[in-house]
Amino acid sequence: MAYSSKETESFKGVWVFCEQRGGEILDTSYELLSEGRKLADELNTYLSGVVLGNGISEDALKKLGGYGADTVHYCEHELLADYTTDAYTKVLTALVQSKKPEIFLIGATTIGRDLGPRCAARLHTGLTADTTHLDVDTEKYKDFLRQNSTLKVDRMPFKEDTNLKMTRPAFGGHLMATIICPRFRPQIATVRPGVMTKQAYDESKASRTAIERPEVELSKEDIAVDILEIKKTAKDMVDLIGANVVVSVGRGISKNPDEGIKLAEELAAVLNGVVGASRGVVDAGWMDASHQIGQTGTTVHPHIYVALGISGAIQHLAGMQESEYIIAVNKNPDAPIFQASDYGIPGDLFKVVPMLIEAIKAEKKQ
Ligand code: FAD
Repeated sequence: MAYSSKETESFKGVWVFCEQRGGEILDTSYELLSEGRKLADELNTYLSGVVLGNGISEDALKKLGGYGADTVHYCEHELLADYTTDAYTKVLTALVQSKKPEIFLIGATTIGRDLGPRCAARLHTGLTADTTHLDVDTEKYKDFLRQNSTLKVDRMPFKEDTNLKMTRPAFGGHLMATIICPRFRPQIATVRPGVMTKQAYDESKASRTAIERPEVELSKEDIAVDILEIKKTAKDMVDLIGANVVVSVGRGISKNPDEGIKLAEELAAVLNGVVGASRGVVDAGWMDASHQIGQTGTTVHPHIYVALGISGAIQHLAGMQESEYIIAVNKNPDAPIFQASDYGIPGDLFKVVPMLIEAIKAEKKQ
């Protein structure tokens, strides 16, 4: 029978695209599997990881099970070793058409942002880009709204269904929009790296993971581009997502940006952390975009987040407000960042930060 994305009832299971680069599975895949596991449990269905590549080790594939996948579909072919839009779209589209998952999650990485929409168009279904929250259970979705919106949830009509409710920032981050795709399947969402929490790894589940190797039909003629060379432009990308401590600087360093960044680096060093930045700092050209935290940058939830000279605009908060402890230094006592902070130090960062560094060093010596 011909494939039809409108036959919603015939689609079952939750899939996660597990992106690899150079044979290494990206950390985002584990975050998405952890989230996918929750959705699959609520739908009482299975969770599959999908890997496209060449020569990926059995251990790396089994590891996906340790983060929740029941099965792994591993499409292996020499033309899948490195990403090309044509090859990945062809193989993934064919796999979806044969197995029919109801939900498909893809990391909103540069590759995911290219691949997801292409597949959605081929499969004649919808895609919600850059999501930050997902629900299938209507009651859980209502709880989410109660906690995160001013809507009078209990006075609103809700249809109890298991459509995927895909929430993402809209209108420059001033609104959150929930989008559903009720008439077509699969429901595809790209999910921001760093937003979903990675669950603890379970070795016993990893060893039980079933690995399926679907046949791949692919030839050079399917691919319009030749990869001549792969250059990593952001070689020294800062690992903001995995960091336990992030010390970020904002435009508050403007009177001496070099000195401000140096102080942040010193503070980060004594706390074993990394340095982030507001978009104000990136736009000014003081730091490169790989450091940017926020709605259009990276989302982090470290143990400690230190905001130095950052006002606390909603677009910045969107990327760090889930941090466990937020410490802010700002010379304006009314700066909005203080409302999102656990500890606030009103003062000039150029005076406060050296004192903090000394105090931490002294504490460490004891
Ligand atoms: P400012 O708002 O200028 O704040 C500087 C702060 O430093 C002030 O509070 C001031 O009191 C304080 N200060 C000044 N001197 C000192 C001193 N010596 N010591 C201590 N404090 C001092 N922003 C992001 O950060 N990330 C994003 O991803 C992002 N995405 C965006 C997406 C869209 C669509 C839009 C429209 C905006 C986005 N922004 C983002 C921009 C955001 O709205 C703010 O403009 C930006 O976050 C401001 O950066 P800032 O806090 O460094 O600068």
